[in-house]
Amino acid sequence: MSGKERLPVRGAQGDLLRLVATGHAESRAQLARISGLAASSVSLRVEELIDAGLLVEEGSGTSRGGRRPRRLRVSPTAGLLAVADLGAHHARLGLLDLSGAPLVVEERACDIALGPEATLDWMAASFDELLLTHGPPGVPLRGVGTGMPGPVDPASGRVVSPSRMPGWHNFPVAEHLGAHYDLPVLVENDANLLAVGEARSWPGCDNLMVLKAGSGIGCGVIVDGRLHRGRGAAGDISHVRVRADSSTMCSCGHSDCLEAYASGAALMGALSEFGIATRRPGDVVALVEDGVPEATALVRNAGRLIGEVLTVLVNFLNPDAIVVGGSLSTAEPLISSIRAAVYERCLPLATRDLEIAVTRGGPDTALLGAGSLLLDAVLG
Ligand SMILES: [Zn+2]
Repeated sequence: MSGKERLPVRGAQGDLLRLVATGHAESRAQLARISGLAASSVSLRVEELIDAGLLVEEGSGTSRGGRRPRRLRVSPTAGLLAVADLGAHHARLGLLDLSGAPLVVEERACDIALGPEATLDWMAASFDELLLTHGPPGVPLRGVGTGMPGPVDPASGRVVSPSRMPGWHNFPVAEHLGAHYDLPVLVENDANLLAVGEARSWPGCDNLMVLKAGSGIGCGVIVDGRLHRGRGAAGDISHVRVRADSSTMCSCGHSDCLEAYASGAALMGALSEFGIATRRPGDVVALVEDGVPEATALVRNAGRLIGEVLTVLVNFLNPDAIVVGGSLSTAEPLISSIRAAVYERCLPLATRDLEIAVTRGGPDTALLGAGSLLLDAVLG
């Protein structure tokens, strides 16, 4: 595989390339203005990036009305990013170009319960297959990234104490993937990836809480337009205690966590006690749409519990919007119960302009978020 060569850019050159790749600049003048570098210095570096085959300039030359501004963009042959969003039973996998545009995205069945080695080797084999089938010849792979359905220590790229991921605790995910590729590797919590990808669909909203309601419950937090990780656990609301009667044990060993009542896994467990079989959280949504009262009541209760936890966070963080994604997000009673709890209990100043809505990004939002963070790692 031709993935060994590194980008010949670091520092200021990498910054200029990133400004073009992320759509913040498309001319030398804009690059000079945003970067603060002198115009001559920008021009020199842009020429070097063009010579290296990383940038291309379009619309060059003169037109009848005089000189047309030349538009810079990342060369389609500058490189590829291989990204995945790993779920309990499915993974979305894709190849992106360096501007974050997908070349191909596929959803494939997998089983994280098989453990980290088997799952990550499967992921690497899937990436290799996508590259072989869809990668343009001669275009190098520049980085690899994946979302994990559990807490990730950003410093080490390890998964820490995840629920429903037997054998994954403290496994060096980044190291294992890195051994396959010898390239920059991004390992990030899946709700964080969703938040970064979703933020692109909320221009003008710099502070977002992006909830992922699927098999588990996660939340990614965008503050001042950037992902807020804290020490890695920021946004992890799944083990907030929501009841005081110690009636339900959580996978973390404590009782009465939000996750134990309101996650897709918890709802599926509760439905099975009614004799209603489901295989994945999407089945719960289908039951709600079919008007099955047990499912509707459980989802409404989950929304209320999530909303009560969010109430504290909305007062504290005062975001512009709460965005709900994940496979349960299309269940209407979930959103309406979250709204009811938050609007009823939050401070008026905190909810005055607060929007609570389902995600605007499509099914590839988390992959696009992965591409965005991975580009930082590749050029950083
Ligand atoms: Zn717990």
